[in-house]
Amino acid sequence: MDLGIRGKRALVCASSKGLGRGCAEALAAAGVELVLNARGAEALEATAAAIRAEHGVSVTAVAADITDEAGRARVLEAAGAVDILITNAGGPPPGLWSDWGREDFIKALDANMLTPIALMTALVPGMMERGWGRVVNITSQSVKAPIPQLGLSNAARTGLTGYVAGTARQVAGHGVTINNLLPGSHDTDRAVALEKGVAKAQDVSLEEARKIRCKAIPSGRYGTIAEFGNTCAFLCSEHAGFIVGQNILLDGGQTSATI
Ligand code: NAP
Repeated sequence: MDLGIRGKRALVCASSKGLGRGCAEALAAAGVELVLNARGAEALEATAAAIRAEHGVSVTAVAADITDEAGRARVLEAAGAVDILITNAGGPPPGLWSDWGREDFIKALDANMLTPIALMTALVPGMMERGWGRVVNITSQSVKAPIPQLGLSNAARTGLTGYVAGTARQVAGHGVTINNLLPGSHDTDRAVALEKGVAKAQDVSLEEARKIRCKAIPSGRYGTIAEFGNTCAFLCSEHAGFIVGQNILLDGGQTSATI
């Protein structure tokens, strides 16, 4: 299917690996010019070079912390006027509800709620003026069903979801759609980190920990970054202009709910 977005320009945050990279690759395959970001310059440059070589699109790489105001300003300056914005950053650490104080919440809210809001505030007005735009926020399945040990993530991402629900309906009349993608377990470094937690807690090998985690998913496996990225690219396509303010779960059926 031709996604109809060849020649558009996208900012994909936190994209040197994992889900962000999956989105960047799928957009590049559709002919979209990219601005990529991550903190580590080496991995970011390697990803940018690989995408340029494979898809022949222009790729600008900006090494910066997207959750930091100065870092975000550098990314936005390099990005200029973009048609597509994919927001993403690392997730908050796990813990117990009683572990966290005000500063922990401020940090999580900054990274996973206020950063995507700041990016939308900066870039959506230009999209509205030009009459076309797509925003996809990478959130988490924890928005639909809380993951108890990820209380900081549950809180920050739910706040972002509420913001998007209202805002998406205010900008849709200008040809701009805002939607959220909710990943369940995907085969990224984050999954390996979570497996280490299971292995330690249950005193099993890493391989066993992966089997335990996959058993809880009706599909019996993790999602791939290609599946995630292609869904993101579809949401950014010409065909998805009537999808507004939605929360789309990609979790292999793990969240058990009727709708
Ligand atoms: P990942 O494989 O660890 O990749 C994270 C990417 O983001 C890397 O490119 C990393 O590069 C970059 N990054 C992290 N913090 C950043 C920051 N402050 N500024 C700029 N770039 C940053 O992680 P992932 O699995 O793709 O997860 C992406 C997001 O989805 C996270 O918020 C995660 O909590 C959420 N999520 C993931 C899953 C899953 O199963 N994978 C499930 C639910 C939710 P640098 O480290 O060099 O900055």
